[in-house]
Amino acid sequence: MIDLHCHLDLYDDPAAVVTECERRGLYVLSVTTTPSAFEGTQQLAANSRRIRTALGLHPELVARRAGEMNLFETLLPMTDYVGEVGLDGSAPHRASLDLQREVFTKILRLCAAAGGRKLTIHSRGATGAVLDALEQNPKAGTFVLHWYLGSSRQMERAVRLGAWFSVGPAMLTSARGLATAALMPQDRVLPESDGPFGTVEGRSADPWDAWRVVSPLASLWNLSVSDTQTRLMANFRNFSDLA
Ligand code: MN
Repeated sequence: MIDLHCHLDLYDDPAAVVTECERRGLYVLSVTTTPSAFEGTQQLAANSRRIRTALGLHPELVARRAGEMNLFETLLPMTDYVGEVGLDGSAPHRASLDLQREVFTKILRLCAAAGGRKLTIHSRGATGAVLDALEQNPKAGTFVLHWYLGSSRQMERAVRLGAWFSVGPAMLTSARGLATAALMPQDRVLPESDGPFGTVEGRSADPWDAWRVVSPLASLWNLSVSDTQTRLMANFRNFSDLA
């Protein structure tokens, strides 16, 4: 099983969640929202072969935490993974969009200068602006658009840019999310929980809940459950050297 985007450090009992991920053999990309959270979050998974920690600066926090970009630069050599980063153009965060764009561009340039990273990217209310930034920085690495809800034309554009897509159970219970997922190439889709923010059945999602996407994806792709699982694992092996 795979969870390509979750916030392990933000669970009430992160150590217990890590233990359960290990017990279940789950591959996890543990993302962070600030550079100052990176080292502590990496420590959580110090003994886990299947968990990798990404260095992030969440767009919703850029207005308050842009001062941590120096720390971001210092820590970048320590990891092959970057996230959660990106842009948020929704009403509460629109005012900081110029600063967000500046920070995101800087992050993409640092990743390119470091030889490329694997990035998990937030794009709520800013799908076009995120694609513009990725298009201008193709050497930043491999992009995973997380919970991506772009239009069909933006989907074509994202695919042309080589993007991957991580989809969660919450996304696949909405009509819009399902319609968007139907436009994604099957060989670029990966599961995510976005826990503890993502939800399933009205509660906070655990990392292993990411695998609940198998059933809706099987229907969408007209594949058996077992072929869908095989597809997702093959995608993950193509994406990462972890499995
Ligand atoms: Mn997230």
